[in-house]
Amino acid sequence: MSERVIPLIDERQRKIGSHVPVIPAQLLNPDGLLADQRGRSLHDLRISVTDRCNFRCTYCMPKEVFDKDYPYLAHSDLLNFEEITRLAKIYIEHGVEKIRLTGGEPLLRKHVEKLIEMLAVLKTRSGKPLDLTLTTNGSLLRKKAQSLKDAGLSRLTVSLDGIDDHIFRQMNDVDFPVADVLDGIEAAREAGFENIKVNMVVKKNCNDQEIIPMASYFRNTGVTLRFIEFMDVGASNGWNMSEVVPSAEVIKKIHEVFPLTNIDPNYPGEVAERWRYVDGSGEVGVISSVTQAFCKDCSRARLSTEGKMYLCLFATEGHDLKALLREGRTDLEISNAIAQVWSHRVDRYSELRGSPELANKAKVEMSYIGG
Ligand code: SAM
Ligand code: SF4
Ligand code: SF4
Repeated sequence: MSERVIPLIDERQRKIGSHVPVIPAQLLNPDGLLADQRGRSLHDLRISVTDRCNFRCTYCMPKEVFDKDYPYLAHSDLLNFEEITRLAKIYIEHGVEKIRLTGGEPLLRKHVEKLIEMLAVLKTRSGKPLDLTLTTNGSLLRKKAQSLKDAGLSRLTVSLDGIDDHIFRQMNDVDFPVADVLDGIEAAREAGFENIKVNMVVKKNCNDQEIIPMASYFRNTGVTLRFIEFMDVGASNGWNMSEVVPSAEVIKKIHEVFPLTNIDPNYPGEVAERWRYVDGSGEVGVISSVTQAFCKDCSRARLSTEGKMYLCLFATEGHDLKALLREGRTDLEISNAIAQVWSHRVDRYSELRGSPELANKAKVEMSYIGG
């Protein structure tokens, strides 16, 4: 099928505020020990490298909203690779050890391998290689898997919402065949990627009948399948609690067919809860952002395509780092601005979901901020 790239932007400029962070008067060298108002450190940075996508997943970029008239970012508004790398280095000095490239569809960003090369050589504060990963819809993986590996990408997550071709085509809403994504995953294995993860967003009466077929398909493959609760990100997906399939239900369903046992997290604060098949055929995970909020351990910052720092997936305001870069601020000034922003952070949207204090607040779109 031919590749269709649909440029987009949401109405974020009108709905979502942003401001240029203040540079504190007294500049301190970063010590890697930043803490926000709830004592959470900064370990994980998600960088959105494009606001475009060739899919129109109904829960993320519904066609009716992200149509051909949608305004999109001008190229000059995007952070360039030097700017992204410069900010990544500053974040690393504050304790970041893991960087995930996302979008939109990150493989649509021209020469993304070049950016990966630039990031892959960075070391954490303790001198270890950075954990550099990327989340993709898999549509371009057959073409790109080897170059991503060669560029130094450590790991890969592929989003896939069903194994039935008809259902998958409905979910991506651009009639993209499931066989091509599965072939992309195969290409990633051939290129030498290990521990590939597949993420499936589960939406009731939409793709929940795919839970068992997906589990069945990925057992014994070495791929870890993770089920994500449908979230109320952004303002365009018409979220409704009744469309959420709680993770506990997903696990119960699988356990009835393929018995499971709960296993320890890989590290404290891991977002996915892990389960292993009793017969040794692999593991699955569940990410329960709605039914079991994990805000108390949330150590993620997000950097949008145009260089705004967001402190939460559900943020209502961005902090414009691109403005600081382009007005010629020094690394130390930008570092202190980031520290100041993080140290004031109080976000815990998932814990407050549905409470009056969040009512009518605009939220940034997932395709802009990155998942
Ligand atoms: N295009 C890439 C992809 O689909 O993997 C990367 C960006 S996408 C925004 C990142 C992840 O967010 C995907 O796994 C997607 O399924 C997930 N996502 C998007 N909207 C969501 C929603 N409303 N609820 C839960 N997950 C969502
Ligand atoms: Fe595109 Fe990923 Fe959003 Fe689907 S989830 S529309 S592939 S950005
Ligand atoms: Fe982190 Fe915000 Fe998600 Fe809570 S809702 S886990 S603070 S991104």
